[in-house]
This record gives sequence, structure tokens and C-alpha cells, in this order.
Amino acid sequence: MPIRTPEDYVASLRGRKLNVFLFGKRIDEPVDHPYIRPSINAVAETYRLAQDEPELATATSGLTGERVNRFLHVTGSAGDVVMQNRMQRALGQRTGTCFQRCVGMDAINSVYSVSYDVDQAKGTDYHQKFKAFVARMQAENFVIGGAMTDAKGDRSKAPSEQEDPDVFVRVVERRPDGVVLRGAKMHQTGCLNSHWLLVMPTMRLTAADRDYAVVAAVPVDAPGITYIVGRQSCDTRALEGGDVDQGNAQFSGQEAVIVFEDVFVPTSHVFMNGEFEYAAPLVERFTAYHRRSYVCKTGVGDVLIGAAATIADYNGVAKASHVKDKLVEMAHLNETIYGAGIAASHESKATASGNYQPDDMLANVCKHNVTRFPYEIGRLAQDLAGGLMVTMPSEQDFANETTGPLLEKYLKGRPGVSVNARRRMLRLVENMTLGRNAVGYLTESLHGAGSPQAQRVQIQRLMNLEEKKELAKRLAGIDDDAAAGGDGAK
Ligand SMILES: Cc1cc2nc3c(=O)[nH]c(=O)nc-3n(C[C@H](O)[C@H](O)[C@H](O)COP(=O)(O)OP(=O)(O)OC[C@H]3O[C@@H](n4cnc5c(N)ncnc54)[C@H](O)[C@@H]3O)c2cc1C
Ligand code: SF4
Repeated sequence: MPIRTPEDYVASLRGRKLNVFLFGKRIDEPVDHPYIRPSINAVAETYRLAQDEPELATATSGLTGERVNRFLHVTGSAGDVVMQNRMQRALGQRTGTCFQRCVGMDAINSVYSVSYDVDQAKGTDYHQKFKAFVARMQAENFVIGGAMTDAKGDRSKAPSEQEDPDVFVRVVERRPDGVVLRGAKMHQTGCLNSHWLLVMPTMRLTAADRDYAVVAAVPVDAPGITYIVGRQSCDTRALEGGDVDQGNAQFSGQEAVIVFEDVFVPTSHVFMNGEFEYAAPLVERFTAYHRRSYVCKTGVGDVLIGAAATIADYNGVAKASHVKDKLVEMAHLNETIYGAGIAASHESKATASGNYQPDDMLANVCKHNVTRFPYEIGRLAQDLAGGLMVTMPSEQDFANETTGPLLEKYLKGRPGVSVNARRRMLRLVENMTLGRNAVGYLTESLHGAGSPQAQRVQIQRLMNLEEKKELAKRLAGIDDDAAAGGDGAK
């Protein structure tokens, strides 16, 4: 039965016997773990949105003609790419965190076009196999995790130059019926909450790195995979009981280390196997897709701006001019991120395979803004929240018969606002700027889809400085030939 509802989705994750470790212990059933469940809830919202707003979160598949979840849709127009951004903003607003499903969506769309290009050049059959794989994912309505980032070891060295060859995922054995993978992928968003992983190379490769040029789909429960779940700031609050101090008790992101210890992948699920020249185009197309996917953070930003405005209201300062100005600044920064991202999507062009690829420059500008602006939005939110956001006693102290009444008396804001409302809003700001969901709102904004320098390198490559110099010289009346030999005037 395909997954249709959020409840179907949660049920589909049960009983998989994954090899998962958290806090040094193996977890039998991640679905019921209070640490992990909020991240499952966030993915479940992608299914709920598809029910609530099918125009936004589903699309008609060009592969099957069926209505499918937009996270599994191969884009067939620039409009499809734009709709992804709109959906991402809506989900950021609903969850206030990373809802984890976009890495797979962007991986599908980049592997789709690159597998086509490889086949055209090399006579392979990757693209047909990939289309069959995606059609199956669409029919089942599965979640796909995008596994790109390797452990990477010494960052100054290529995969084949590393002291330990396993710090990048590689093919350790080629069999007649498939390949065997070894290595580790880091920071893997929502991997436990996925059904399949799409493994991809993480950087430009050379002939010496041939074994690292592998794209393969692997079921999350394949033998040989171990998951080690990452910590998040203030994470143990999820284990304390209570729902106030968590700030956002319902939703969180999830990242884990995935270790592949000789994982077999049948040929039908291998979509690149040694074509090292295509690693760079794949990384470029994926990052263009994913860097403009970071408009997700504008949905999260909407929540944080709303929280800052609400706490200012609760504190009785909503009408102060500097407060209004700070909220305007937050909105301006947030919309600047969205502007570049949605522009990148609008400017999408058809690839040879027929799907659409967003504008590389604008996508990189979007992500580069994301490496900075959420930090400033977070700073302004903390400014408006006041210091209580980080000095407030625990919810157990509010429940205590001695300290509870004292806190009720002294933590009041303006008349008509309950202390409970005020502390919940402060905890939400804390959650998003310092706590669990600051992982998604801040550090993921910095490093996810590539650290800031990766965007600067791409912007430098794409900015076409020579053409800009010519524009300036033309208006200034300078002729290069004349400049070399005389006064330079035209
Ligand atoms: C919350 C979160 C979620 C993520 N989710 C996913 C996911 O789902 N799937 C996935 O595949 N990846 C994911 N990532 C990984 C993300 O793409 C990487 O974090 C990012 O590419 C940076 O890699 P790194 O963390 O290894 O940092 P590093 O590459 O070690 O970078 C650290 C610093 O070193 C610099 N640096 C690195 N290499 C060089 C070099 N050769 N020369 C000079 N300077 C260098 C960088 O510019 C940066 O300033 C996620 C990351 C985060 C934080
Ligand atoms: S960081 Fe944003 S784009 Fe990436 S998976 Fe999370 S919600 Fe989607």
C-alpha cells in the first residue's frame, strides 16, 4: 500500500530493525524514541501538506501521469521548480525547523539530468534505470535521503590521496550483479526517517578517484549500514518530559553519521559507476538545486519574526519605533533570501534530459545570503526577547509549590498576558536561536549545501568579470588596443 497520510508514513517507519545508535546505546525502535520522534513529525508534515494543499505539495508525474508528492516529482517546467520553493516556505512555517525531505528531491532532479548526459556520452543505461527507480518511489510515496557529504579526512587531499581510503564512500568490489560500497556519509539529514538513500559523490573527481564516482540507491535498512545519531544543542530537554522548555516540542530536524560497511547494491540501483568526469556536474547541479531550496529558512524566519513581534507585544513595547524598525529589518532580510531563491527557480532552464535546472548564480546568491541573514534575524529576535530567554527557570520550578507562585508574580509582562504564554514564546525563540532548532536555522544555514566559501567560488566562476569590464570600458570611452599603445581613448 502506498503511503498517503502522515499516519501511514509513521507506520511505515516501524519495525525496520535499523542499526541505530544514540547516546552510546542501540535503539530498537526509533519511531517511539522521544528524542527522535519530533524529527519524524516534521517529515510527516510533508504528507499532511499534500493532503491539505494538494496543488502546492503534489504534482502530476511526467513519468507515470499520476499525482505524486512534489518531493518526488521530476520537474517539467520552471513553474515546477518555483512550486518547490513555495512548498518549502509553507513547511518551514508549519514546523519551524528542517523538514528533511528536500535533499532527496534535489538529488532526484540532479541525478535525473546527469544520468541522461552520461548515457549519451558513454552508451550506458543509467537514465532508464533511474527513471524506473523514481517511478517506484513515486508510486510508494517514499522519503529519499540525499547522501552526498563524505567524512573527507584531510580536506587538502583528493579521495584517492587520503591516508584512509574509506573517508570517502567508494566501490570496494565490482560484481557481475552489482557493487559493494564502503565508507561514511556525514550530517545526513533525516536519514532514519527515510526509506531510501541516494548516495552521490561529494566533489570533483579525477581518473585516480574512479572508485569514488558512484551514484547508488540503497534502502535505509540494507545490511551493513550503521546510523549514529548526532546531538543537538539542548537536546536532552526532549527526554525530561514536559513541553514548555523544549520550545518546540512537536518538531525538530535530524542528522546522523551513516557508516556503510560493505553494503551490496544491485546493478538496477547503480546510476554512476566510475564515470568520474560526471562527479563535478552532478555536484554542481545538485548544489544549484539545493542552494535555492534554502528558502525553507524563510518559512522558519517567518515563525521567528512572529515570535519576536509577539514577545515585544507581551512585554508591552510593541509600539516602540525601534521595535517596529527591527521587525522591518528582520522581514527585509528574510524576503531578500526568498527573493534570490525564487528568482533562481523562475530562471530555470530545460536540461537535455527534459527536466529543469535552476539558475546557478542566483541559487548561490540565495544560499550565500542564508549563511548570514538568519544569524542577524536571530540576533534581532534575541534583542527583542530580552535576557529572560536564557535565564528563565525550568518548567519544574514553575510547577513547584514554593517557587511557582513567585515566578508567576515576577515574570509577568503587560496586563492581559499570561506568564505561561510569555515563557512559551521565550522558549521558542531560545529553541530556534540556541537550542535544537538552531541546528537547522543557523548552522545548517551556514554549512548545509556547502560552506560559504563554496558559494563564493561559484559566484566568482559565474560573475563574468571580463564582460563587466567591457561594459565599463565602453562607457568610459576606453579601447584596449589603444590603451596598450597610447592614451587608451577610443
Ligand atoms: C545541519 C546539517 C545538515 C546537513 N545535511 C546534509 C545532508 O542531508 N546530506 C549531505 O550530503 N550533507 C549534508 N550536510 C553537509 C554539508 O553539505 C557540509 O556540512 C558542508 O558541505 C561542509 O562540509 P563539512 O561540514 O565537512 O565542513 P568542511 O568542509 O570541513 O568545512 C569547514 C571549513 O573549512 C573550509 N574548507 C573545507 N575544505 C577546504 C579546502 N579544500 N580548502 C580550503 N578550505 C576548505 C570550508 O570552507 C569551511 O570554512 C549537512 C550539514 C549540516 C550542518
Ligand atoms: S535544510 Fe531546508 S532545504 Fe534542506 S532538507 Fe532541511 S528543510 Fe529542506
